[in-house]
Amino acid sequence: MSLDQELSGCLFFVATPIGNLGDLSQRAALSIENSDIIACEDTRVTAKLLQHLNLRIPMVSYREENERKKSQEIALDIESGKKVALLSDAGYPCINDPGFRLVRECHARKLKIIPIPGPNAALTALAASGLPTHQFAFIGFLPKKRGQVQKTIESWKDFDGSVVLYESKYKIEKTLNAISEILGSDRFICLARELTKSYESILSGPVNQVIEEQSQSSGKGEFTIVIGPSGYSFE
Ligand code: SAM
Repeated sequence: MSLDQELSGCLFFVATPIGNLGDLSQRAALSIENSDIIACEDTRVTAKLLQHLNLRIPMVSYREENERKKSQEIALDIESGKKVALLSDAGYPCINDPGFRLVRECHARKLKIIPIPGPNAALTALAASGLPTHQFAFIGFLPKKRGQVQKTIESWKDFDGSVVLYESKYKIEKTLNAISEILGSDRFICLARELTKSYESILSGPVNQVIEEQSQSSGKGEFTIVIGPSGYSFE
């Protein structure tokens, strides 16, 4: 583990656990410790992480709503020699979380960016799914409107790889049914729920079977879905 302690004026881009604090890497902890400022999504969530690490570091809230303004301010801080750690509530910043504008601003100003890799729900689900990994697409959350949901799922029908998406507990049942209706009840999928947490479950198989198995659980939690290519099975 090495992290240049003398380094000044940089953005540490830090991945944090998606549920299990044991997944916080030594390098992530060290980069947070070495930072002058933490730019984070929800200061209450990050405060718990800092408490776990026994650290007190000033935090600035960096959310979707203030991303534009804050990106400029944080970039100026870095330019003036400050070390800033960018964190989201869980997993990678920028991956369906704030961060993109700040990273872009740092590139535009030729500021140093140091990525600290770590947990991410999409890649964890894909790797544990048993579905093809040679080629995949990550599509984030499905659109809000029903018609657009159908169109989006339909558009990936013939993709020759796996499709990874995030879904909330409120829509999981509807989305699984839509996948079954549009892609067929025998389409292989993986439903990864509560990855790295106590109630982790990874269901892989034909979507009708996954729906049946999922209906026996509480339905709560965080979900990532992986859809396999047409014709794929475990045979
Ligand atoms: N930046 C995060 C990452 O790198 O994975 C993703 C943030 S996105 C706002 C949150 C969504 O990721 C959740 O609604 C869920 O779909 C998925 N997710 C996050 N944690 C998860 C977990 N432990 N198990 C399964 N899916 C998870």
